[in-house]
Amino acid sequence: MPSKISKNSVVTFHYTLHDSDGTKIESSKGKDPLSYLHGHSQIVAGLERELSGKAVGDKLKVSVDAANGYGEHNKGLIMEVPRDKFPKAAKLEVGAIFKIGPDAKNSSVVQVTAVSDKSVTLDGNHPLAGVDLVFDVEIVGIRAATKEELEHGHAHGAGGHKH
Ligand code: ZN
Repeated sequence: MPSKISKNSVVTFHYTLHDSDGTKIESSKGKDPLSYLHGHSQIVAGLERELSGKAVGDKLKVSVDAANGYGEHNKGLIMEVPRDKFPKAAKLEVGAIFKIGPDAKNSSVVQVTAVSDKSVTLDGNHPLAGVDLVFDVEIVGIRAATKEELEHGHAHGAGGHKH
């Protein structure tokens, strides 16, 4: 059993995420901890890098700038679409989330950020794009990945990928 986080460890951790102004974004506290397969880009790059070599019980605060988190905000992913391009039944309100694209595999998630009589503004940026992130992390478990997890490139079981 590996005692330190290294490539192909399945890591289970609790986290609380704040933005750089100290506003809480999300937390696993009171919920199940999260599991991921280390070294496979399952979590944001800046956090994964800092978790290497850590052990169960370690607590750390990791600041990740937007570029190493969910990316910089890209204006090119914002588009204005005529309202009549949407199905009549579509709920067009600010905050609504749609999947757009030719099929399920080539779709991207967009969020409605503005609605007018004639058009709808869609933003394809990740909701945390452009946000500098601060993670408070506590490592609660480390184990070796199974063969199946390595083939899939993600962690299974509690807190991991559900099939
Ligand atoms: Zn799987």
